[in-house]
Amino acid sequence: MKVAAITGPRECQIVEKPDPQIRGEFARVKITVAPMCTEFKGYKEGWKGDALGHEAAGEVVETARPGRVKPGDRVVVMPQYPCGRCELCLSGDYIHCQHNLDPLAECGSLSGTATYAQYCIKQDWLLLPIPEDISTEYGAMACCGLGPTFGAMQRMNVDAFDTLLVVGLGPVGLGAVINGVYRGARVIAVESNPYRAALAQNLGAELIIDPNDPDALRVLQNATAGRGADKVVECTANPAAQKLAVLAARRRGQVGFVGWGGHIELENMIPDGLSLHGCWHWNLHDQSRMWQVIRASQEALDRLITHRFSMSQVKDAWELQLTGQCGKVLLDPWR
Ligand SMILES: [Zn+2]
Ligand SMILES: [Zn+2]
Repeated sequence: MKVAAITGPRECQIVEKPDPQIRGEFARVKITVAPMCTEFKGYKEGWKGDALGHEAAGEVVETARPGRVKPGDRVVVMPQYPCGRCELCLSGDYIHCQHNLDPLAECGSLSGTATYAQYCIKQDWLLLPIPEDISTEYGAMACCGLGPTFGAMQRMNVDAFDTLLVVGLGPVGLGAVINGVYRGARVIAVESNPYRAALAQNLGAELIIDPNDPDALRVLQNATAGRGADKVVECTANPAAQKLAVLAARRRGQVGFVGWGGHIELENMIPDGLSLHGCWHWNLHDQSRMWQVIRASQEALDRLITHRFSMSQVKDAWELQLTGQCGKVLLDPWR
């Protein structure tokens, strides 16, 4: 099968790998939609490797034994290789499992963990059948497009009484706008990139605050009768933005951190009585709600997904992502 590989700084190629093998509860999925995430950073820096990507949707082509899915099923591929047996896995919070498997060792396979690839392997319980009335592309937004911020909003119970602040409008933050609007919240966002600010307004964000404005916090205070945001979703992992996220929450407010990394300053956590959440992905038991959001947000998803590339054009796709002039970008491994 064909996979994408980074071969040096801003260098890449498509290479041949053996088709993946499966065993036990694993299934083989033909990836038809591979949403692109932060791999462009590795492309820029030249992190050599051919196991790229963690978002995928496609069609089951083979199961090692009869199980929860069968060949022909359209599925979303959930991230990681959790154990499936511990308390966290059983409660749906598999993403925080402490006992992740090595899928290649489990299956005796030389490939199958990448999603910038024609096939991947996954335990059957982490392949979520996509409802008939939802396309595979929209279904793929249950990965990072909508997934992490959906999880954060479930955690914080975001609803129509809330003013929600979204800090950072990369594809994940833009997904947060869609999730917030779906829930009826009043959505305000922080972003300096004009392309993404305009896209967020188009998705229903009421006000976009420029983080480079020294009065950014005051603009938010003025827009919220001096209170601050009820709930904040931080999607940048940039220390200055993380600080802004914490300071922007109202007293007794909540902040969900979705962006990985950075350095979070918490001076005002105790005096302001804040609740802070580390949010990676979403609880598997909330699957029907995830489909509900996707089903109702198809027009918004058409705006979120701004570009599609064949895998042979992955270089062009990464170069585009480096400009920031895009929303969610999709890759087709079979073209
Ligand atoms: Zn587990
Ligand atoms: Zn992702």
